[in-house]
Amino acid sequence: MKDEKTNVSKFEQRTFAGFKSLAELPYFEWTRDGLFKLTVDGLEGIIDGHAHFATNGLSGPKPDLLLRHAETKYYLNQNSPFRMDNYMGQNNTEQDVSNMTQSLLMQFTPEGSVWTTTHTIPNLIAEMDLLHIDKAVILPLSYGFPYGDDMTEWYLDSIEKSGKKDRFIICGAAKPTLPDAIERIKQLKLKGVKGIKIHPNMALFKPDDSLAWAFYEECAQLGLPVLAHCGLVGKESADPSKTMGYTGRHADVHNFMESVKAFPSLRWVLCHSGGLQNDLVIDLARHNRNVWLDIQGQSVENIRTMIKELGPERLMFGSDWPFFAVASLMSRLLLATEGDNTVRKMVFSENAARFWGLG
Ligand SMILES: [Zn+2]
Repeated sequence: MKDEKTNVSKFEQRTFAGFKSLAELPYFEWTRDGLFKLTVDGLEGIIDGHAHFATNGLSGPKPDLLLRHAETKYYLNQNSPFRMDNYMGQNNTEQDVSNMTQSLLMQFTPEGSVWTTTHTIPNLIAEMDLLHIDKAVILPLSYGFPYGDDMTEWYLDSIEKSGKKDRFIICGAAKPTLPDAIERIKQLKLKGVKGIKIHPNMALFKPDDSLAWAFYEECAQLGLPVLAHCGLVGKESADPSKTMGYTGRHADVHNFMESVKAFPSLRWVLCHSGGLQNDLVIDLARHNRNVWLDIQGQSVENIRTMIKELGPERLMFGSDWPFFAVASLMSRLLLATEGDNTVRKMVFSENAARFWGLG
């Protein structure tokens, strides 16, 4: 049994048949609820640094975030084969990507989306409880739409009603280049948000746009870190006219370099550690101590490289639930830190606790 537990390298270079086959790892037990339970000792109080609920907006209905659904419909089909030596999103089949696009579009229409309807507070908590996750950082999105762009307020209200406020670190969302962005974050701070999520690809702006400068200044003043979707993922559109200007290229790591340098007192969390641009992000973080990395999606090998090149202190675990089941992402960090409990605890919980000023 001991041999099996320590000899995990064989899992790094193989194809798993589907989500359930994570049970072959010595870290999890499959439960009757169709979810994994973490069986690793000494890993209490984990913080998931990157999660969302339903991301409906525009004319889309707002699903009841207090409902428990029997099944969470993740964007990655749970029966699709997957590997851990690649960027997580590369496991998606064309059909998965097409489903995801369909769902993302439906959530903006009055009909709504069968996927996002299941992305609720109790569904996330069900996974957190089994995986020893004490708190999740909740990241609403701001699309910059003229209406139906109030995800932050909707999340705040639902979390309040859920009675589970202590399980979440709630961020607000804004589009930094809008004229009212500064006033917006002042208001959000008053409502209790702990950081600001920005999404260059969804809100169509470049982070280095000088129009965003005053916004970053204000975030620094208010003590609100900026958490940014960051990096290319290999699914960018070649022809913006076919995708209504949504190319996926606004979040290119190159577009962050000036602003990260210009505001050394502002703490940045670059989400996904730059996706396929991980090398660039490592370099950026090496030269800028105000950069922290959410390791969501990175391969086991890249996680090890980041630990080695940067040290573990500014790396934080994140799942990007409900795009993926939380256990799928945990397995990567568990493999990368096999045999090093100190680093494992730092990246799973201690770094985030320090970052968010907990205890
Ligand atoms: Zn995300």
